[in-house]
Amino acid sequence: MTQATLRDAVRFSGVGLHTGADASVEIRPAPTDHGVQFVIDGVRVPATGEHVVETARATVLGIGTHMVSTVEHVLSALFGMEIANAEIAVSGPEIPIVDGSAKAFADAFAQAGIEKQSRPTIDFEPLEPFEMRDGDRALIVLPGDGLRVRFVADFPPPVGVQYFDGWIDAATYRSEIAPARTFGYLDEVTALRARGLARGGSLDNAIVFSPNGAMQELRWSNEVVRHKVLDLLGDLSLLGMRPRCDIVAIKSGHDLHVRAVRELRERSLSRTHEVPSPT
Ligand SMILES: [Zn+2]
Repeated sequence: MTQATLRDAVRFSGVGLHTGADASVEIRPAPTDHGVQFVIDGVRVPATGEHVVETARATVLGIGTHMVSTVEHVLSALFGMEIANAEIAVSGPEIPIVDGSAKAFADAFAQAGIEKQSRPTIDFEPLEPFEMRDGDRALIVLPGDGLRVRFVADFPPPVGVQYFDGWIDAATYRSEIAPARTFGYLDEVTALRARGLARGGSLDNAIVFSPNGAMQELRWSNEVVRHKVLDLLGDLSLLGMRPRCDIVAIKSGHDLHVRAVRELRERSLSRTHEVPSPT
C-alpha cells in the first residue's frame, strides 16, 4: 500500500462533546513520511502514543499546556480512509463532536479527494502474538494479512453483549464503521451534566439509552460495538504505522488501547534500532 494524503484542506466547526465549547479544526494535506500531527497554538503534537495525556472519557493529546481533547473520531476517520499524512490545525479545547460518529469526517475526506503519494506505507506487522489484559478486558494482537478486527462489547442493559467481526479497508470503514455514533445512558448523562461534563451532549450527537432502549433510531442493531471499533481504530492510529494484523478486543477501551499501543510502539522502535546501520 502507498501513503496518501488529502487533495484539499477540510474544515469543521461545532460544539465539543465534553466542554460544550465552540471548536474548529482544519485538516490539511501533508508530505510523505509526515504522519498525522496536530497544530495547537503553533505547537506541533504528533498523533502518537507518547503524546496521550489522558484517556478517562476521551483521548486527549498534548505537549505541556498545549492540549486537545476527543481526538479519537477524527483520527479514526483518517486511519479508516487510509490517509497516512495530514496536519490538523486546532482552535478550541476539543475536536467538534459533529453527529457523534466519524461519518462527516470520512465523507468530507472522500469529497476533498485522497491522493496517493510516492512512498509505501510504514507498516506494523507483529512477528508474534501480543496480549494486554486488565481484569476481564483484553486486547490481543496476532500476526495476520491485512487488518481484521473482532470486538466483543458487554455493557449494562439495555445494550448487553454485542459482537463485530470484519476486515477493515477504506470501503468497509466508510460503510460499516464510520457512521456508528458514540453513546451514553440517560442516568449517566444527568450525572455527568451535574459534574459539568458532557456539556455539549445532546440527542443530536450521541445515542442515549434509557432503561427501555435507545431514544433514537439505531443505524444498526449492534451500533454500539461498531462505535467501539471506530474508537479502537482511532487509538490504533497512534501507532504511527499501518497495522497488518488480526486484532481481538474484549470489552476494551481507550486506556487499554493506548497502553498496548505505547508498548507495541516501543518494541517496534527498539527492534528498528537493533538493526545495525550501514557505515
Ligand atoms: Zn468514540
